[in-house]
Amino acid sequence: MDCAGIFREKNVTLYGSSVLPRGLRVYESLPNVISFALPLPQAIVQEVAEKGPTKTYFHHYRTCNAYIDHISYTLVLAIKAEGYDALYIPASQSVSEDGYHGLFPHKAAAVLCGLGGIGMNDLLVTRRYGAGVRLGTVMTNMPVVQAEAVENPCNGCGVCVRACPSGALFGKKWEAADSVEAMIDVRLCSAYMKKTYQGIGRGAVCGICMAACPIGRT
Ligand code: SF4
Ligand code: SF4
Repeated sequence: MDCAGIFREKNVTLYGSSVLPRGLRVYESLPNVISFALPLPQAIVQEVAEKGPTKTYFHHYRTCNAYIDHISYTLVLAIKAEGYDALYIPASQSVSEDGYHGLFPHKAAAVLCGLGGIGMNDLLVTRRYGAGVRLGTVMTNMPVVQAEAVENPCNGCGVCVRACPSGALFGKKWEAADSVEAMIDVRLCSAYMKKTYQGIGRGAVCGICMAACPIGRT
């Protein structure tokens, strides 16, 4: 199946695939994963860095998510047409009782697939686009090429940690065994967004720690 052809057609330049370790499988019948990243416009990332989240940022965030779901579903249909099974993880959807976690963490797939590493902001950081990306994930039983691990682009500068207005980031350099809880107080982060940015997507976004990261800036 020509995933590369679909990514080319959709103008996706950063993608990879991997076998999921057993402990990370959501469905035993879908042991492989494909991950891809779409960059946010750099002008928007800069705007968030200077002013904090804006309505324009929130629009791009949602548009990007919608396009990710479209690409993911295109991949699912193409894989199924080849006789395999596949399922995509929604670009942005919480499924846990506490509302903080999705069906599967996109960034875990992205690291496995060689797209980048986890920064002190607990976001995927890519060499080319920094943390200013949105992620898509497709699980499948189609055989995939195992990506090579890449060096984590996060240099531990701590700029994101100091920029966070809520103090939610612990400033920890990420290691593979780290859980989300080791990196960030998600409740503090969420409470701050809801309280401060009600006028922007009802407090669904902040992005300051994403925009603060200097990696990938030109
Ligand atoms: S999204 Fe905002 S509040 Fe949450 S960790 Fe990042 S900078 Fe802090
Ligand atoms: S701002 Fe610095 S510490 Fe934070 S993710 Fe980027 S490189 Fe890592």
